[in-house]
Amino acid sequence: MFKKLFSILTIFLLLIPHVIIPDMVVKAETLGDVERELEKYKADYQANKEMQQQTKEEMQDTQNKIAKANNDIVVANNEIIALQKEIEDLNKEISKKESEIKEIMNFFQKSNGESAYLEYMFGAKTFTDFIYRMAISEQMTDYNKRLIKEYEEKIEENNKKTEELGSRKTELQKMQQNLEVLYKSLQTDLNSYIEDQVSIEEEIRMKEDAIAMYKEMGCQTDDEIDICTREKLPPTTELFRPLVSGYVTQEFGRPDSSTSYLYSIHGAIDISTYDNNTPVYAAGNGLVVAISRNQSCGNNIVYIQHVLYSGETYTTAYWHLRRVLVDEGDVVTKDTPIGIMGGAYYDYDECAMGAHVHFVVATGLYLQDYYYISTLNSRRINPRMVVNFPDYGVEWEDRLTKY
Ligand SMILES: [Zn+2]
Repeated sequence: MFKKLFSILTIFLLLIPHVIIPDMVVKAETLGDVERELEKYKADYQANKEMQQQTKEEMQDTQNKIAKANNDIVVANNEIIALQKEIEDLNKEISKKESEIKEIMNFFQKSNGESAYLEYMFGAKTFTDFIYRMAISEQMTDYNKRLIKEYEEKIEENNKKTEELGSRKTELQKMQQNLEVLYKSLQTDLNSYIEDQVSIEEEIRMKEDAIAMYKEMGCQTDDEIDICTREKLPPTTELFRPLVSGYVTQEFGRPDSSTSYLYSIHGAIDISTYDNNTPVYAAGNGLVVAISRNQSCGNNIVYIQHVLYSGETYTTAYWHLRRVLVDEGDVVTKDTPIGIMGGAYYDYDECAMGAHVHFVVATGLYLQDYYYISTLNSRRINPRMVVNFPDYGVEWEDRLTKY
């Protein structure tokens, strides 16, 4: 009975957190859990690669179809042009024949007054001659009339063909347009696969680093991470400003004007100082758990986690660092310089338009309370809640004075 209840409970517990917030998936308890998570990422990576390949093949196929449609349109166009030329020639022939008929008539008329035609025929000496004369003129006009009729029929036929070719051309153009739309959407798919791939690669790299770090710290596969790293995570009294002197340049929670990502909400506090080569310090005693390097948005980012004496746990992140002075697994104190402030225009960082530190504070510990560094976002809090900063724009001259 107990066993049954237990398994029902387990199923229930397994289901719920997955459904609610993926980031908060059951607390990673052991190093083995993290390793399994890493394997899942590697499988995702493989699947992503396959999707990319498949999409590329579809794109090639679409390109071929577009090229074929193009070719068919050219062929139809040439045929239309040829038919029109033929119609033109036929029209010329018709008017030629018509003027020939007119000329024959004129000849008889002009040769001897208005009644020349009749005179010509009636001028026949014999009845046979009369028949002959009449036949000649009739044959000539009949022959030409027959030709004109033939030409007209041919023109009609050509017009019909032109019309058919015209609608075929329209069909082909429509098909070509649809193919172009398909191609664009495949391109968009491919781009998003490539973007995903980059972030999956980054997660894989960071997880591999973290696993190596925890192993170095003495964690075994079945060890719970927070227990085997406890000694290494020096408790800290509180968190301090990461710059010796500086001022707040952007508050937390406002629409972010410092990036090109419109509508994004600023999930950090931005701080800066006049010195472009200023060291950035760890906000408090802690452990460097992850480092993202050379990100197009954020450049070098250091993640440090802290356990306060009160038992509260936080992760702090320092964005746009021009240089990083620590390694993953380093135990730092609040006086350890962890990097050099960057974000200046020459730092090639899409998300910074001036030297500053984008200082993030999130609750919880990486791989213990949350799995993904990239989705630490949902745990961000206003840094002012745990670190003392003077009002916006007001300068501070040391890290300890309270404002
Ligand atoms: Zn910022």
